[in-house]
Amino acid sequence: MSPRVLIAEDEAAIADSVAYALRGEGFAVDTVQDGESALAAARADGYDVLLLDLMLPGVSGIEVCRRLRTESAIPIVMLTARTAEVDRVVGLDVGADDYVVKPFSMPELISRVRAILRRRELDLAEPTVLRVGALALDPVRHSATVNGEPVRLTPSEFKLLGLLARHPERVFSRRELMQHLWQSSYVGDQRAGDAHIVNLRRKIGRDRLVTVRGFGYKLVAV
Ligand code: CA
Repeated sequence: MSPRVLIAEDEAAIADSVAYALRGEGFAVDTVQDGESALAAARADGYDVLLLDLMLPGVSGIEVCRRLRTESAIPIVMLTARTAEVDRVVGLDVGADDYVVKPFSMPELISRVRAILRRRELDLAEPTVLRVGALALDPVRHSATVNGEPVRLTPSEFKLLGLLARHPERVFSRRELMQHLWQSSYVGDQRAGDAHIVNLRRKIGRDRLVTVRGFGYKLVAV
C-alpha cells in the first residue's frame, strides 16, 4: 500500500506542487488548508507522515503539532519560512521530528519524507523489548517506560534511544547519533539533533543518558 501523506498548507501553490511531487513518487496524498482540518484529518485517518506548515490560518501549525504530539506518534515535518523558529519547532515545546525551510527543493523534501518512513519501518520491524536498567523500550508498540511509568517520546527521540539501548555503555559521538537519526552520512542541522538529545535526557533522566565530556553520550543501566 502506498504511504499516506497529509499536507497541511494554506498556500495553494506550495500545497499543489508538493502534492504533485509526492504523488509522482508513489505516495497517496491528501491536503488541508487550515489548522482545524489538519487536526481532524490527522486524528481520523491513519497517515504515515504529516507535512505541516508553521503559519496556518486558525489553529497555527505549531499548535497543531503540539496537540498531536500529546496524543499520537505520527511523524511530523514542519514547513517553515522562519529559521528563527527552528529550535522551538523541534524542541520539547513543539516536538516536530524534522523541518524544511521554505523555499525547499522537492528532492530535499521527498528524501526527508522517505527517511522518516524508513525509520518507522525499522522501528516496527524490531521484535523484542529492549531493557537497560529501569528503562524499557518496545519498538513494536513504540512505547517507552522508566520504572514502569510511560515516557512519551517523539519518533526521532525513540529512534535515538533505540540505538543507544541496543548498545548500553557504548559511547556514541554526537555525529554518530545524528547519522543514525537521518540514516545517511549527510548530517542535517545539528541544532535539530541537539534538541532531540536535550529533550531525551530530560525525559528519561540525565543520570541515565550520560554526557561523556569531549566524546558524546552513552546510555547506562540505572
Ligand atoms: Ca502558511
